Amino acid sequence: MKYYSINRKSPAVNFGEAVVRGLAPDYGLYYPEEIPMLPSGLIGTGKTLHEICFEAIKLFIGSEISNSVLQSIVEDVLNFPLPIVEVEKDIFSLELWHGPTAAFKDVGARFLSRNLSYFLRNEDKEVIVLVATSGDTGSAVASGFLNVDGIKVVILYPQGKVSEIQEKQLTTMGNNITALEVKGTFDDCQKMVKHAFNNDELRQQLNLTSANSINIARFLPQMFYYFWAFEQLNNKQKPLAFSVPSGNFGNLTAGLFAKKMGLPVHQFIASTNANNVVPEFLETGVYRPRPSIATISNAMDIGDPSNFVRISELYDNNIEVMRKDLTGFSFSDDDARNIMKAVYNEFNYLTDPHGALAYKGLKKWMAKNGGQGIFLETAHPAKFIDVVENAIENKIVIPEKLNEYLKREKKSILIGNSFEELKTFLLN
Ligand SMILES: *Cc1c(COP(=O)(O)O)cnc(C)c1O
Repeated sequence: MKYYSINRKSPAVNFGEAVVRGLAPDYGLYYPEEIPMLPSGLIGTGKTLHEICFEAIKLFIGSEISNSVLQSIVEDVLNFPLPIVEVEKDIFSLELWHGPTAAFKDVGARFLSRNLSYFLRNEDKEVIVLVATSGDTGSAVASGFLNVDGIKVVILYPQGKVSEIQEKQLTTMGNNITALEVKGTFDDCQKMVKHAFNNDELRQQLNLTSANSINIARFLPQMFYYFWAFEQLNNKQKPLAFSVPSGNFGNLTAGLFAKKMGLPVHQFIASTNANNVVPEFLETGVYRPRPSIATISNAMDIGDPSNFVRISELYDNNIEVMRKDLTGFSFSDDDARNIMKAVYNEFNYLTDPHGALAYKGLKKWMAKNGGQGIFLETAHPAKFIDVVENAIENKIVIPEKLNEYLKREKKSILIGNSFEELKTFLLN
């Protein structure tokens, strides 16, 4: 399979090169030349999680990784459950927080780290993985790459805009992981990282790559749990909607890819917080990126979603066709708090501030359209313990794997929000 740059000013490359580069030389995101169809009989016939995911991802990789290596990568990446839980009639939570850092990003980050190590196995120059995080990406990437030979991870996170547990996860891994605490917003962090990839001097002197969802090996494996969620449904005939709490829109776009491959999904719902660039676009047809607004669902505080170009590409820039598959809703922090409380009180189920908005989007859509729906619970509620406990007016239990982080000492390097400071740091 070849991957072309969405900007169309760089040559198409194979999978391995797209993974190592992250972003194309013309700064475009890589996109597969075709979206393959799932082989018939792969879905809905009782195959295992690993069988389904291996067959599906192989279609995008071809012979660049041997079957046996790819199989072991898939098994190693998906070594934790991805269950759906029925919260109320016809409404399921897809719990994506059973991995090591308790957020859905573990799936993509683990797959990426193993692919990157594989494709760089004969390289002797150290590789620097540069990643901007709004909270959960950094720790998932750090955990995925921890102690991987030949790879250094540099994380940029916005000072004061991540939760305590998130910050501890970012700043306490040590070893080959360095956390840069940026005096600015997530958008600043993302801009600094993009700037670094665009800087000739850095590119010549360092082996830089990206672990954000612009990287195809982080983006594609996010399809896995859409397949697996469908597989777990008892009723596979009833029209199905997925509601995805969205920020950079990598997760949701992967779901749209799964549908394009043949997964029978009726509708996708993009549930956002006040950062509503995409819902607004779906309504008005005008795409208006702008500075992000801080909310209690901080992993979605993104004012210019980097994967939106992949959605446009998928629908050939045709908004009418896009609207058939995709509905967008934007909600407030109060909505998130009210949902966390109501779902907890009525159904004894804990949602986090991101999943809560996805639940609300799903309810809103199903009120009109019926059917059944799955909302993505993208992080364990304890990652946002203050906000969640406040909303439900009760205490929650922190899982042991998160508690471990809290006991450790924070180590970060404070820098300003200019590219020059990042550059100076990297070159030293
Ligand atoms: C990253 C993140 C999101 C947003 O996912 P995107 O793929 O960027 O849209 C939602 N919820 C949580 C908890 C996250 O960490």
